[in-house]
Amino acid sequence: MKQNESRILIFGGTGYIGSYMVKASIKLGHPTYVFTRPDSNKTDILTEFQSMGAIIVKGRVDEHDKLVAAVREVDVVISALAYPQVLDQLKILEAIKIAGNIKRFLPSDFGLEEDRVSALPPFEAFLNKKRRIRRAIEEAKIPYTFVSANCFGAYFINYLLHPSHPNKQDITVYGSGEAKAVLIYEEDIGIYTIKVATDPRTCNRVVVYRPPANVVSQLDLISLWEKKTGRFLNKTHITEQEIVTLSQSLPDPENIPVSILHSVFVKGATADFEIGDDLVEASPLYPELKFSTVDQLIDIFLKNPIKPASAAFG
Ligand code: NAP
Repeated sequence: MKQNESRILIFGGTGYIGSYMVKASIKLGHPTYVFTRPDSNKTDILTEFQSMGAIIVKGRVDEHDKLVAAVREVDVVISALAYPQVLDQLKILEAIKIAGNIKRFLPSDFGLEEDRVSALPPFEAFLNKKRRIRRAIEEAKIPYTFVSANCFGAYFINYLLHPSHPNKQDITVYGSGEAKAVLIYEEDIGIYTIKVATDPRTCNRVVVYRPPANVVSQLDLISLWEKKTGRFLNKTHITEQEIVTLSQSLPDPENIPVSILHSVFVKGATADFEIGDDLVEASPLYPELKFSTVDQLIDIFLKNPIKPASAAFG
């Protein structure tokens, strides 16, 4: 193995955000391993990863011996498992403890900074599961990086502005539309996540992706879109009280997305806290890289509409 290379094992690598991490890891020259279920239906992307040089490891998180063997092959473990599988990461942590060789573990966070948000009960329950994983990793003294990637940019632009339905003029604004939110392009999340996973400066730190040009309100986003497209949108506001009522009346898990919208777009929870010495903002760490700004992200959409396949909210 060359200097500066790490062997990286990614769980959930065939998923929405995990696939960007696998591609970034290969692009940055790291030997890349993808742990996938034997009956995964993601055959096309697995074939693509293999053709790019990734090593595919088939198994399930409850196959302890297989997990320990896979972990022993690598230096860094990244989990991008989806929300319903969050507590399965305790099994990955057990394997990491037994293997004893892992230099860094990144659990499946990649959203709001969960230790600095106080949310409506459905989202709070969701965050509690992720916090439980963080506390278990700290207690086990496994070297970690916790990543708060904020809102997946392409995913939320699609959700809020419906760019692939140019005739749809009616859009929903959550609350007043003035609260600031952080939108980060998924390709950048992939690259920066591999950088921080292999960087000694981010060991045992919480890293936040929040470059200034990616902090926008819904109203900013709408007027930017209107200016660039020349197409005006009819805005219907849902009040905070209506959102709270929905979070109380919808069944679980449908009550989670609306509670996330409340935190992000009504309360401004991705942008309303200071990044002090206890947190690391990723942009200054890598002067050779730049996060795509929201302005550039909209241009990317206008040139070549991105249709996020299937990210589940959260
Ligand atoms: P995803 O695409 O739904 O799933 C990731 C992978 O999990 C799948 O491709 C699958 O891989 C694997 N998996 C393992 N067990 C599974 C099971 N029983 N059922 C289904 N899939 C299973 O994940 P994601 O939406 O990218 O979410 C990853 C992380 O990002 C989560 O922590 C989530 O909360 C967060 N997120 C953040 C935002 C944001 O805006 N910040 C948005 C969405 C999600 P195999 O088939 O290869 O086994």
